[in-house]
Amino acid sequence: MSIRVEEGQGERSLAGGPAHLIELEADFLDDGRFGRRSLEVEAEYVRVVEANGAMAFQMPIQEIKGARNEPLVGGGRLEIVTRKGDIIPVISYSLTVAAKFSEAARGIEQLAKGEPLSINLKVERLRCAKCNRLLPEKDGVCPACVNRGKTLMRISRFLLPYKWFAIALAALSLTTTLNNLVPPYIQGKLIGEVFEKKTHLPTLWSFIGVWFGIAVLGTAVNITRDRLVAKLAGNIAGDLRAAVYRAVEFLQLNFFDKKQVGAISSRVTSDTDRVWGFLVDGLPYLLLNGLTLIGVIVFLLVIQPIMALIILIPVPLVVAIGIKFWRPMSQMFHRVGQKWARFHIHLNESLHGIRVVKAFAKEDTEFAKFQQRNHELRDAGVRADSHWFTIFGAMMFCTTMGTILCWAVGGYFITQGRLSLSQFWMMQAYLGLVYGPLQWFAQVNNWFSRAMAGADRIFEIMDMDKESYGDPGKKFPIRGEVKFENVRFGYDKSNPVLKGIAFTAAPGEMIGLVGKSGAGKSTTINLICRFYEPDAGSIKIDGIDYKDIALQDLRNQIGIVLQEPFLFNGTIADNIAYGKPGASFDEILAASKAANAHNFILGKPDGYDSMVGEKGSKLSGGERQRVSIARAILHDPRILILDEATSSVDVETEKQIQEAIGRLIKGRTTFAIAHRLSTLRNASRLVVLEKGEIAEIGTHEELMEKKGVFYKLVETQTAINEIIGIGAGG
Ligand code: ADP
Repeated sequence: MSIRVEEGQGERSLAGGPAHLIELEADFLDDGRFGRRSLEVEAEYVRVVEANGAMAFQMPIQEIKGARNEPLVGGGRLEIVTRKGDIIPVISYSLTVAAKFSEAARGIEQLAKGEPLSINLKVERLRCAKCNRLLPEKDGVCPACVNRGKTLMRISRFLLPYKWFAIALAALSLTTTLNNLVPPYIQGKLIGEVFEKKTHLPTLWSFIGVWFGIAVLGTAVNITRDRLVAKLAGNIAGDLRAAVYRAVEFLQLNFFDKKQVGAISSRVTSDTDRVWGFLVDGLPYLLLNGLTLIGVIVFLLVIQPIMALIILIPVPLVVAIGIKFWRPMSQMFHRVGQKWARFHIHLNESLHGIRVVKAFAKEDTEFAKFQQRNHELRDAGVRADSHWFTIFGAMMFCTTMGTILCWAVGGYFITQGRLSLSQFWMMQAYLGLVYGPLQWFAQVNNWFSRAMAGADRIFEIMDMDKESYGDPGKKFPIRGEVKFENVRFGYDKSNPVLKGIAFTAAPGEMIGLVGKSGAGKSTTINLICRFYEPDAGSIKIDGIDYKDIALQDLRNQIGIVLQEPFLFNGTIADNIAYGKPGASFDEILAASKAANAHNFILGKPDGYDSMVGEKGSKLSGGERQRVSIARAILHDPRILILDEATSSVDVETEKQIQEAIGRLIKGRTTFAIAHRLSTLRNASRLVVLEKGEIAEIGTHEELMEKKGVFYKLVETQTAINEIIGIGAGG
């Protein structure tokens, strides 16, 4: 028996090792209380063992037919179906480990069927495996543990095209440092040579002249440097955004099932922005402040080493405070960020649902929920800010201590004749230059971590599996035969949605997909479009496994008209021509006429140039559908998908849409899902799905005569239609 268990406690080898193929700890007892018990699966037995080692359950695999997961409140229960058909509850667990137990059920089923064990006990991580901190998102990157060096190296690759910019920048930073260091020296000299001696006016003017010159030069250098930084960072951020967006576009759809759109778009926006922010405001100052700090300390030591050592005593204190408090500080700010996110999500949701809120007069309830998040945000903010101001105050106190020490020790050295007034001035001016960069360094660590975590999330997307588009040069003109060969598929592999679908659609045939909600109709269509690929079995187009057809080529020949057609914000003409950019106006016109859209479009103030609004919101549902039909007609696909294309419109519009669809499907292999079964009368054949399996296939008449599943569906619908008073659909 071959065994493949990906990552997790279930990893065991049969040869020579302990015989547990799967070993999982559950956290619920049968009565719903928390408590530890383990599920142990061996080649021959399934067992449940209590925390004290007592055996709570045991059953030989050969008596087992299958296993399933029964959802319960707050968790679930693993149940075994015996060969006799009994259902036996085995072990209960909480939601935290539910995913593992669903894999375990799959594993038991595989063993029961004598199949090789192939399960994945990997679960989404909520905490960092290294430091156990809560991750910003499931399976996300831990900002504290990200390998900063490696990530920085990778970002620096984005710098390569602009390497001369970067070199110029470094050189200019060096100049700026010198500019910062010179004025205190001049001031000291002025005090010593001019103020104290009260003579030598020409010396005064020459010093002032040099100072002025340096100021002018310094300003010019600063402006040039900042402009360079803006250009460099802007370009790199632009390149990063483009790279992430490109990567996101080609990601497999299952990635989008797991992540919310907001989380994905934040990688394109805030993560790149974070990297940009650090490149603009962080990186250049790293060099500048580092050089300044070194320069200042050298100057101080040269002028009066003993005094320098004394007045620098508070420096390690500032560093220590920075190191000690920065981590809790950053966690607090991180929490504020999370509270902001929760606040935003709630605000967005309640504003989107404002009609429902008003309709149910739930303003007070919504306000209470709002206030809860608002207060959480307030409290987290107040805590973080108070903490920060305290730390900042302590740091400022150290700075003041340094200044007081400087005056005390300086005064003492002056009275002892070991320091001139001019030297004192330089010392205190240079000391003033120490603390700025120091405080900056205390913060930059955190800033740097966050930027690197952002960069890491960006790279994570870039490194993810992409859809294999195949060789785009290879063209495969499709005739239109689509053959499902024993296709099995589940969004989550442990939970198959399609269980062995097999049928063939001849070129030009219209197949109606019917079945109750959740039967797997949309999933079948998702597979035809190759948004997902079968876990087992294959889909063949004109006799060729569709995985061997270049993806772009395949999708170019498939057209979709969705129940809720998605239009992009632009003109009606742009939307019709979406699938065929550069289409002539005559072509657009012909498509729109065939889609019965021409007349309503002419009625719009700007005709074909009318803007459709965000997601097509300025058009009615029926209008959007006809625009999307026109789009499909112009696209001219060989295989057509109609997903509930005729719902929620008035009778007249529906007639027009039906006519348009009649024209659209001519000569194309069509797969149509319609809720109203009557609208599928024109279908060549109907494939009736039930719980992911084909229950029946045949023409409308055949299936009605058969009086099977389809007949029952029609009957139910007719009854419902009668109840709601619209009569049995024509
Ligand atoms: P139908 O179109 O017949 O109503 P679907 O194909 O949409 O059914 O759904 C079949 C099953 O797959 C349902 O149980 C549904 O919850 C599940 N499902 C559909 N889409 C997803 C998805 N993106 N991720 C996980 N499960 C899904």
